[in-house]
Amino acid sequence: MRATVMRNRKLVVDTLPDPKPGAGEVLVKTLACGICGSDLHALQHADRLVEAAIESGAPFIMDPKRDVVMGHEFCAEIVDFGPGCQRSLEEGARVCSMPLLLRSEGLQGIGYSNDVPGGYGELMVLSEMLLLQVPNGLSTRHAALTEPMAVGLHAVEKARLAPEDVPLVIGCGPVGLAVIAALKLKGAAPIVAADFSPARRALAETLGADVVVDPAAGSPYRSWQEVAKPSGDVPPMPFALGPALRPGIFFECVGVPGVIDQMMKGAPRAARIVVVGACMEPDLMHPILGINKELSLQFVLGYEPHEFAATLFDIAAGRIPVEPLITGDVGVEGVGAAFEELRQPEKHAKILVEPWRS
Ligand SMILES: [Zn+2]
Repeated sequence: MRATVMRNRKLVVDTLPDPKPGAGEVLVKTLACGICGSDLHALQHADRLVEAAIESGAPFIMDPKRDVVMGHEFCAEIVDFGPGCQRSLEEGARVCSMPLLLRSEGLQGIGYSNDVPGGYGELMVLSEMLLLQVPNGLSTRHAALTEPMAVGLHAVEKARLAPEDVPLVIGCGPVGLAVIAALKLKGAAPIVAADFSPARRALAETLGADVVVDPAAGSPYRSWQEVAKPSGDVPPMPFALGPALRPGIFFECVGVPGVIDQMMKGAPRAARIVVVGACMEPDLMHPILGINKELSLQFVLGYEPHEFAATLFDIAAGRIPVEPLITGDVGVEGVGAAFEELRQPEKHAKILVEPWRS
Protein backbone atom coordinates (compact mmCIF):
# COMPACT_ATOMS: atom_id res chain seq x y z
CA MET A 1 0.00 0.00 0.00
CA ARG A 2 1.01 3.62 -0.48
CA ALA A 3 1.65 5.62 2.66
CA THR A 4 3.31 8.73 4.01
CA VAL A 5 6.00 7.43 6.35
CA MET A 6 7.88 9.25 9.12
CA ARG A 7 11.45 8.04 8.51
CA ASN A 8 14.62 9.66 9.89
CA ARG A 9 12.64 12.73 11.05
CA LYS A 10 11.26 13.32 7.57
CA LEU A 11 8.04 12.48 5.79
CA VAL A 12 8.51 10.30 2.72
CA VAL A 13 6.05 8.48 0.46
CA ASP A 14 6.70 4.76 0.10
CA THR A 15 5.04 1.46 -0.76
CA LEU A 16 4.72 -0.72 2.34
CA PRO A 17 3.42 -4.27 2.84
CA ASP A 18 -0.35 -4.36 3.39
CA PRO A 19 -1.23 -4.81 7.08
CA LYS A 20 -2.88 -8.14 7.99
CA PRO A 21 -5.78 -8.19 10.45
CA GLY A 22 -5.12 -10.36 13.52
CA ALA A 23 -7.71 -12.01 15.73
CA GLY A 24 -10.66 -9.71 16.39
CA GLU A 25 -9.32 -7.14 13.91
CA VAL A 26 -10.67 -5.77 10.66
CA LEU A 27 -8.78 -4.54 7.62
CA VAL A 28 -9.98 -1.11 6.50
CA LYS A 29 -9.37 1.33 3.67
CA THR A 30 -8.55 4.75 5.07
CA LEU A 31 -11.04 7.16 3.49
CA ALA A 32 -9.99 10.37 5.24
CA CYS A 33 -7.62 11.22 8.07
CA GLY A 34 -7.04 14.60 9.67
CA ILE A 35 -3.55 15.97 10.27
CA CYS A 36 -3.16 16.72 13.98
CA GLY A 37 -0.94 19.24 15.74
CA SER A 38 0.42 16.30 17.75
CA ASP A 39 1.80 14.85 14.51
CA LEU A 40 3.63 18.10 13.81
CA HIS A 41 5.04 17.85 17.34
CA ALA A 42 5.97 14.19 16.82
CA LEU A 43 7.93 14.98 13.66
CA GLN A 44 9.74 17.88 15.31
CA HIS A 45 10.20 16.53 18.86
CA ALA A 46 10.07 12.73 18.44
CA ASP A 47 12.74 12.10 21.09
CA ARG A 48 11.08 14.33 23.65
CA LEU A 49 7.73 12.66 22.96
CA VAL A 50 9.21 9.21 23.58
CA GLU A 51 11.08 10.39 26.69
CA ALA A 52 7.84 11.87 28.11
CA ALA A 53 5.94 8.66 27.27
CA ILE A 54 8.51 6.61 29.19
CA GLU A 55 8.50 9.05 32.14
CA SER A 56 4.69 8.99 32.24
CA GLY A 57 4.53 5.18 32.11
CA ALA A 58 2.61 5.13 28.81
CA PRO A 59 1.42 1.67 27.77
CA PHE A 60 2.89 1.94 24.26
CA ILE A 61 6.07 3.61 23.07
CA MET A 62 7.21 4.10 19.49
CA ASP A 63 10.81 4.05 18.36
CA PRO A 64 11.47 7.14 16.19
CA LYS A 65 14.44 5.35 14.58
CA ARG A 66 11.99 2.95 12.91
CA ASP A 67 9.24 3.79 10.40
CA VAL A 68 5.95 5.20 11.68
CA VAL A 69 2.83 5.82 9.58
CA MET A 70 1.09 8.54 11.55
CA GLY A 71 -2.58 9.55 11.40
CA HIS A 72 -5.10 8.99 14.22
CA GLU A 73 -8.16 11.06 13.16
CA PHE A 74 -9.78 8.82 10.60
CA CYS A 75 -12.88 7.51 8.93
CA ALA A 76 -12.43 4.18 7.11
CA GLU A 77 -14.26 1.43 5.22
CA ILE A 78 -14.24 -2.25 6.19
CA VAL A 79 -12.66 -4.43 3.49
CA ASP A 80 -11.85 -7.68 5.34
CA PHE A 81 -12.10 -9.48 8.68
CA GLY A 82 -9.42 -11.26 10.69
CA PRO A 83 -10.10 -14.55 12.47
CA GLY A 84 -12.65 -14.64 15.30
CA CYS A 85 -14.55 -11.47 14.33
CA GLN A 86 -18.23 -11.03 15.26
CA ARG A 87 -18.95 -9.45 11.85
CA SER A 88 -21.79 -7.36 13.25
CA LEU A 89 -20.88 -4.74 10.63
CA GLU A 90 -20.57 -5.68 6.99
CA GLU A 91 -17.84 -5.30 4.44
CA GLY A 92 -18.20 -1.83 2.94
CA ALA A 93 -19.45 -0.24 6.17
CA ARG A 94 -17.91 3.12 6.98
CA VAL A 95 -16.50 3.30 10.50
CA CYS A 96 -14.68 5.48 13.01
CA SER A 97 -12.64 4.16 15.92
CA MET A 98 -10.62 5.47 18.78
CA PRO A 99 -7.01 5.18 17.54
CA LEU A 100 -6.15 2.16 19.66
CA LEU A 101 -5.54 -1.45 18.75
CA LEU A 102 -6.36 -3.87 21.57
CA ARG A 103 -3.91 -6.74 21.24
CA SER A 104 -3.29 -9.51 23.74
CA GLU A 105 0.40 -8.55 23.86
CA GLY A 106 -0.58 -4.94 24.72
CA LEU A 107 -2.12 -1.75 23.36
CA GLN A 108 -0.92 -0.18 20.12
CA GLY A 109 -1.49 3.51 19.56
CA ILE A 110 -2.65 3.81 15.96
CA GLY A 111 -0.68 6.62 14.36
CA TYR A 112 2.19 6.36 16.88
CA SER A 113 3.23 2.76 16.35
CA ASN A 114 6.12 1.02 14.58
CA ASP A 115 4.04 -2.13 14.14
CA VAL A 116 0.71 -0.96 12.74
CA PRO A 117 0.04 1.88 10.28
CA GLY A 118 -2.04 4.96 10.96
CA GLY A 119 -4.32 6.90 8.64
CA TYR A 120 -1.66 8.42 6.37
CA GLY A 121 -1.63 5.10 4.50
CA GLU A 122 -4.18 3.40 2.27
CA LEU A 123 -4.91 0.53 4.71
CA MET A 124 -5.09 0.03 8.48
CA VAL A 125 -6.13 -2.67 10.90
CA LEU A 126 -8.63 -1.75 13.64
CA SER A 127 -10.05 -3.60 16.65
CA GLU A 128 -13.55 -4.76 15.74
CA MET A 129 -14.67 -4.07 19.33
CA LEU A 130 -13.94 -0.35 19.00
CA LEU A 131 -15.70 0.23 15.67
CA LEU A 132 -18.49 2.77 15.46
CA GLN A 133 -20.50 2.77 12.26
CA VAL A 134 -20.81 6.21 10.70
CA PRO A 135 -24.46 7.14 11.23
CA ASN A 136 -26.49 7.12 8.04
CA GLY A 137 -25.79 9.99 5.75
CA LEU A 138 -22.93 11.65 7.64
CA SER A 139 -20.15 12.48 5.21
CA THR A 140 -16.82 10.69 5.55
CA ARG A 141 -14.99 14.00 5.81
CA HIS A 142 -17.14 15.15 8.71
CA ALA A 143 -16.91 11.77 10.46
CA ALA A 144 -13.11 12.07 10.34
CA LEU A 145 -13.40 15.07 12.67
CA THR A 146 -14.79 12.91 15.49
CA GLU A 147 -11.39 12.33 17.10
CA PRO A 148 -10.23 15.97 17.34
CA MET A 149 -13.68 17.18 18.42
CA ALA A 150 -13.85 14.51 21.15
CA VAL A 151 -10.74 16.08 22.68
CA GLY A 152 -12.79 19.24 23.29
CA LEU A 153 -15.67 17.35 24.85
CA HIS A 154 -13.31 15.53 27.22
CA ALA A 155 -11.65 18.79 28.31
CA VAL A 156 -15.05 20.32 29.06
CA GLU A 157 -16.22 17.20 30.94
CA LYS A 158 -13.06 17.36 33.06
CA ALA A 159 -13.84 21.02 33.80
CA ARG A 160 -17.10 19.98 35.57
CA LEU A 161 -18.93 23.09 34.41
CA ALA A 162 -21.44 24.80 36.66
CA PRO A 163 -24.11 27.11 35.22
CA GLU A 164 -22.46 30.25 36.69
CA ASP A 165 -19.07 29.49 35.11
CA VAL A 166 -17.79 31.85 32.43
CA PRO A 167 -15.28 30.14 30.11
CA LEU A 168 -12.25 31.74 28.48
CA VAL A 169 -10.51 29.80 25.70
CA ILE A 170 -6.93 30.88 24.95
CA GLY A 171 -5.94 29.70 21.45
CA CYS A 172 -8.41 28.90 18.66
CA GLY A 173 -6.55 26.22 16.70
CA PRO A 174 -8.27 22.84 16.28
CA VAL A 175 -8.03 22.11 20.03
CA GLY A 176 -9.48 25.46 21.11
CA LEU A 177 -12.22 25.22 18.48
CA ALA A 178 -13.15 21.74 19.73
CA VAL A 179 -13.37 23.12 23.29
CA ILE A 180 -15.58 26.00 22.12
CA ALA A 181 -17.91 23.58 20.30
CA ALA A 182 -18.22 21.41 23.41
CA LEU A 183 -18.83 24.45 25.65
CA LYS A 184 -21.58 25.58 23.31
CA LEU A 185 -23.19 22.12 23.37
CA LYS A 186 -23.16 22.22 27.19
CA GLY A 187 -24.90 25.60 27.17
CA ALA A 188 -22.01 27.57 28.71
CA ALA A 189 -22.42 31.33 28.20
CA PRO A 190 -20.95 33.70 27.44
CA ILE A 191 -17.93 31.97 25.86
CA VAL A 192 -14.88 34.21 25.49
CA ALA A 193 -12.11 33.13 23.08
CA ALA A 194 -8.81 34.69 22.06
CA ASP A 195 -6.43 34.17 19.15
CA PHE A 196 -4.04 36.39 17.19
CA SER A 197 -5.33 35.00 13.87
CA PRO A 198 -8.42 36.71 12.37
CA ALA A 199 -9.32 33.49 10.48
CA ARG A 200 -9.25 31.49 13.69
CA ARG A 201 -11.30 34.13 15.52
CA ALA A 202 -13.90 33.87 12.75
CA LEU A 203 -13.95 30.07 13.15
CA ALA A 204 -14.31 30.51 16.93
CA GLU A 205 -17.45 32.57 16.32
CA THR A 206 -18.81 29.97 13.90
CA LEU A 207 -18.36 27.25 16.53
CA GLY A 208 -20.10 29.25 19.24
CA ALA A 209 -17.80 31.84 20.88
CA ASP A 210 -19.82 34.87 22.04
CA VAL A 211 -16.88 37.25 22.48
CA VAL A 212 -13.68 36.95 20.44
CA VAL A 213 -10.56 38.86 21.35
CA ASP A 214 -7.42 39.72 19.41
CA PRO A 215 -4.72 39.67 22.12
CA ALA A 216 -2.66 42.10 20.03
CA ALA A 217 -5.45 44.67 20.40
CA GLY A 218 -6.61 44.09 23.98
CA SER A 219 -6.33 41.80 26.99
CA PRO A 220 -8.49 38.65 26.80
CA TYR A 221 -8.58 38.70 30.62
CA ARG A 222 -10.08 42.20 30.65
CA SER A 223 -12.69 41.15 28.09
CA TRP A 224 -13.47 38.11 30.22
CA GLN A 225 -13.90 40.31 33.34
CA GLU A 226 -16.31 42.59 31.51
CA VAL A 227 -18.67 39.73 30.70
CA ALA A 228 -18.14 37.87 33.98
CA LYS A 229 -19.71 40.61 36.11
CA PRO A 230 -22.71 39.07 37.83
CA SER A 231 -26.08 40.65 37.24
CA GLY A 232 -27.54 42.31 40.35
CA ASP A 233 -25.78 43.16 43.59
CA VAL A 234 -23.34 40.57 44.85
CA PRO A 235 -21.82 40.96 48.31
CA PRO A 236 -18.02 41.10 48.17
CA MET A 237 -16.30 37.80 48.96
CA PRO A 238 -14.06 37.71 52.01
CA PHE A 239 -10.40 37.97 50.94
CA ALA A 240 -11.58 38.83 47.43
CA LEU A 241 -8.96 40.36 45.19
CA GLY A 242 -10.87 42.77 42.96
CA PRO A 243 -14.54 42.86 42.01
CA ALA A 244 -17.04 40.04 42.51
CA LEU A 245 -17.16 37.97 39.33
CA ARG A 246 -18.75 34.77 38.13
CA PRO A 247 -16.36 31.78 38.40
CA GLY A 248 -13.65 31.57 35.75
CA ILE A 249 -12.95 28.37 33.84
CA PHE A 250 -9.98 28.97 31.56
CA PHE A 251 -8.81 26.58 28.82
CA GLU A 252 -5.18 26.64 27.70
CA CYS A 253 -5.26 25.55 24.04
CA VAL A 254 -1.93 26.90 22.79
CA GLY A 255 0.77 24.61 24.20
CA VAL A 256 3.76 26.94 24.10
CA PRO A 257 5.96 27.97 27.04
CA GLY A 258 4.73 30.92 29.08
CA VAL A 259 1.01 30.61 28.38
CA ILE A 260 0.08 28.87 31.65
CA ASP A 261 1.89 31.56 33.65
CA GLN A 262 0.18 34.34 31.66
CA MET A 263 -3.18 32.72 32.32
CA MET A 264 -2.40 32.45 36.03
CA LYS A 265 -1.60 36.18 36.02
CA GLY A 266 -4.82 36.99 34.20
CA ALA A 267 -7.06 34.63 36.16
CA PRO A 268 -9.50 35.78 38.84
CA ARG A 269 -9.43 34.32 42.32
CA ALA A 270 -10.37 30.60 42.50
CA ALA A 271 -10.31 30.15 38.72
CA ARG A 272 -9.78 26.67 37.29
CA ILE A 273 -7.33 26.37 34.43
CA VAL A 274 -7.68 23.32 32.17
CA VAL A 275 -4.52 22.63 30.17
CA VAL A 276 -5.37 21.00 26.83
CA GLY A 277 -2.55 22.38 24.61
CA ALA A 278 0.47 20.06 24.69
CA CYS A 279 3.66 22.00 25.41
CA MET A 280 6.71 19.85 24.58
CA GLU A 281 9.25 22.02 26.35
CA PRO A 282 9.96 22.81 30.02
CA ASP A 283 7.90 25.76 31.18
CA LEU A 284 8.18 28.33 33.94
CA MET A 285 5.40 29.36 36.26
CA HIS A 286 5.14 31.37 39.46
CA PRO A 287 3.43 29.16 42.06
CA ILE A 288 2.83 32.17 44.32
CA LEU A 289 0.30 33.47 41.78
CA GLY A 290 -1.63 30.24 42.12
CA ILE A 291 -1.33 30.36 45.91
CA ASN A 292 -2.53 33.95 46.20
CA LYS A 293 -5.55 33.26 44.02
CA GLU A 294 -6.17 29.63 45.02
CA LEU A 295 -6.09 28.56 41.38
CA SER A 296 -6.67 24.98 40.22
CA LEU A 297 -4.70 23.50 37.35
CA GLN A 298 -6.11 20.45 35.56
CA PHE A 299 -4.25 18.71 32.73
CA VAL A 300 -6.27 16.60 30.29
CA LEU A 301 -5.55 14.08 27.53
CA GLY A 302 -7.66 12.43 24.86
CA TYR A 303 -11.19 11.24 25.68
CA GLU A 304 -13.19 8.37 27.11
CA PRO A 305 -14.91 5.88 24.76
CA HIS A 306 -18.38 7.28 25.54
CA GLU A 307 -17.17 10.83 24.77
CA PHE A 308 -15.78 9.65 21.44
CA ALA A 309 -19.08 7.99 20.52
CA ALA A 310 -21.14 10.98 21.70
CA THR A 311 -19.04 13.28 19.51
CA LEU A 312 -19.65 11.19 16.38
CA PHE A 313 -23.40 11.33 17.04
CA ASP A 314 -23.32 15.07 17.81
CA ILE A 315 -21.57 15.70 14.49
CA ALA A 316 -24.06 13.45 12.66
CA ALA A 317 -26.98 15.29 14.29
CA GLY A 318 -25.60 18.62 13.04
CA ARG A 319 -24.89 19.88 16.55
CA ILE A 320 -21.21 20.61 15.79
CA PRO A 321 -20.63 22.63 12.59
CA VAL A 322 -17.42 20.91 11.44
CA GLU A 323 -17.46 21.79 7.74
CA PRO A 324 -15.75 25.22 8.17
CA LEU A 325 -12.88 23.53 10.05
CA ILE A 326 -11.78 21.62 6.94
CA THR A 327 -9.44 23.98 5.15
CA GLY A 328 -7.62 21.60 2.84
CA ASP A 329 -7.24 18.07 1.53
CA VAL A 330 -4.28 16.16 0.13
CA GLY A 331 -3.26 12.68 -1.02
CA VAL A 332 -0.26 10.84 0.49
CA GLU A 333 2.08 12.86 -1.73
CA GLY A 334 0.82 16.11 -0.23
CA VAL A 335 1.25 15.34 3.47
CA GLY A 336 4.76 16.79 3.76
CA ALA A 337 3.71 20.10 2.21
CA ALA A 338 0.54 20.12 4.36
CA PHE A 339 2.68 19.84 7.52
CA GLU A 340 4.57 22.95 6.40
CA GLU A 341 1.34 24.83 5.63
CA LEU A 342 -0.13 23.96 9.03
CA ARG A 343 2.64 25.90 10.70
CA GLN A 344 0.91 29.04 9.40
CA PRO A 345 -2.17 29.36 11.57
CA GLU A 346 -3.75 32.03 9.40
CA LYS A 347 -4.41 29.67 6.52
CA HIS A 348 -5.60 26.43 8.06
CA ALA A 349 -7.52 24.60 10.76
CA LYS A 350 -7.79 20.96 9.64
CA ILE A 351 -6.25 19.39 6.53
CA LEU A 352 -7.59 15.95 5.59
CA VAL A 353 -5.46 13.24 4.00
CA GLU A 354 -7.36 11.09 1.51
CA PRO A 355 -4.85 8.31 0.80
CA TRP A 356 -6.72 6.85 -2.18
CA ARG A 357 -7.02 10.04 -4.18
CA SER A 358 -4.74 10.21 -7.18
ZN1 LIG B 1 -4.94 14.45 17.46
